[in-house]
Amino acid sequence: MKTQTISQATYNTFINEIRANKIQQVTIKSRWIEYQLKAEFGGQRYRTQKHDSDENLISVLSRQNIEFSLVNDNSESTNSLVAMLLSSGLLIGAFAWLAKLSTENGGIGVGMRMGKSNARVYKKSKTGISFADVAGVDEAKQELQEVVDFLQNGAKYRQIGAKIPKGVLLVGSPGTGKTLLAKAVAGEAGVPFLSMSGSEFVELYVGVGASRVRDLFSQAKRQAPCIIFIDELDAIGKSRGNNPNGGNDEREQTLNQLLTEMDGFDGNEGVILIAATNRPEILDPALRRPGRFDRQVLVDRPDKSGRIEILKVHSRKVVLGENVDLTEIASQTGGFAGADLANLVNEAALLAARNNGQTVLMTDFNEAFERVVAGLEKRSRVLTPIERQTVAYHEVGHAFVGALMPGGNKVAKISIVPRGLGALGYTLQTPESDRFLMLEDELRGKIATLLGGRAAEKAVFNKVSTGASDDIQKATELAEKAVTEYGMSKDLGPVAFAKNEGQFLEGFTSRRTVGVEVAGEIDRLVKQNIEQGYEIALKIIEFNRDLLDSTTQTLLKNEVLEGEQLQTILSLVKAPEELKTFLQG
Ligand code: ADP
Repeated sequence: MKTQTISQATYNTFINEIRANKIQQVTIKSRWIEYQLKAEFGGQRYRTQKHDSDENLISVLSRQNIEFSLVNDNSESTNSLVAMLLSSGLLIGAFAWLAKLSTENGGIGVGMRMGKSNARVYKKSKTGISFADVAGVDEAKQELQEVVDFLQNGAKYRQIGAKIPKGVLLVGSPGTGKTLLAKAVAGEAGVPFLSMSGSEFVELYVGVGASRVRDLFSQAKRQAPCIIFIDELDAIGKSRGNNPNGGNDEREQTLNQLLTEMDGFDGNEGVILIAATNRPEILDPALRRPGRFDRQVLVDRPDKSGRIEILKVHSRKVVLGENVDLTEIASQTGGFAGADLANLVNEAALLAARNNGQTVLMTDFNEAFERVVAGLEKRSRVLTPIERQTVAYHEVGHAFVGALMPGGNKVAKISIVPRGLGALGYTLQTPESDRFLMLEDELRGKIATLLGGRAAEKAVFNKVSTGASDDIQKATELAEKAVTEYGMSKDLGPVAFAKNEGQFLEGFTSRRTVGVEVAGEIDRLVKQNIEQGYEIALKIIEFNRDLLDSTTQTLLKNEVLEGEQLQTILSLVKAPEELKTFLQG
């Protein structure tokens, strides 16, 4: 037999060659690892010193389909696999990293692993998350509490002949805590948690997604009781039949496989599927029928008391200053989802640390809030005097009009410090309480407030600037919705001309097909709404012109107006007679 020389290689080279998928075979001995490259890479044999290894080496090799053998050439020191499994150290890091690389998109050996599910598996209770970490979504928590009971005390339900539900669908806006809830269920029930995102199933090659679904379920059944979590279910669960590319594409096969798998297991086996989506309306009806995702749980944006609870959860690890009032922060942050609040607390803590503070103060929260809503301060952006003046008049214009409008929105701050990507100044309005409906007059008032900036520019300079483009965009959207979605126009009546297709997402609106005349009428009414708003804004500005000038001068000097000083000024803003008629429509 031809003997082959064995060259020495560094450990680093060994790892790199695994990553490059160059290795044919590996022999793990007590002190050495010998390996041979594939023929196309020269077939050379190498030897490298073995370090304290761990189970990950073996799992990486097997996952990569690299042939390997364990040779016990020293019975004393290597009783061996056990020793290897128990030992730990630096290498765990290296292999954990390799394993991670190979399981995340692409990475090593993706070709060979194509049909594997790539699910991230969190072992028993390792999600480290419990219901105490999720706040402000009490109804959803209650529903899921039951799922925990199914997993823990399955026998109780089976005995009486009840069928345990197979699937729970969490629906709600992004960042409201759907993933967190699913992890909490796994944490509370103390069962493994297999997590995958809908988009991770689908590859370019037909059949891969389906085979990943199969693999995921077989993995889950082996580990039952456990939870499978599929995030962004809409990526594979989109309704079939409205696909422009024909009927049999990759996504559909994946969905079919998912439906088959869901039928093929019994909730009583101890596998519960939890999925999340923010577009439930586009899901295939087959997914939602009883026996598949029997339960739908709404994970809503939190109300004020919910926001207080979420802020408490996230500030548990943060050293709060005495003056921090979480209730006050919760009132300011209407519309924030859990993820936004988590981000707010973290931003405040970062700011406090950057200022070398010992505790996080209310000022840090206020600054963080503005950062989150308006972007970073850009003091370096130098405006010409005339630009600054325009911006200042523009913002005071918004504030004056806003101060007179109904709806309980308080103008809390005006600033002409540039922030974020485009804002040269901003006016902050905070709701006094959570609102779930907007009345007709409030909607009109909002349009007028948005146009208050443009009106001030026009009244003062008799020239307008490009600065109002975002306001105009928003005002137009609102005016259009009033006519096409909310049925608020007298002429067209309560007819819907557009359909909001993204219940939990903005910007998924489609127009119904309408006749030319109706389309013209819609355009006319939208324009009329806008014009009326603009006119009343102009009236308010002209009626309060002196106050507008003096306030703008103060703002130019101080850059920011807020608190009592601002409220005193705004209480002096007088309403012109026409306001009443305008609000009545
Ligand atoms: P979703 O899956 O709904 O898009 P996530 O569950 O991924 O949202 O939420 C992202 C992060 O936001 C969480 O890790 C958590 O820190 C925070 N968060 C969201 N909702 C809540 C909540 N209800 N309570 C506490 N934290 C929350």
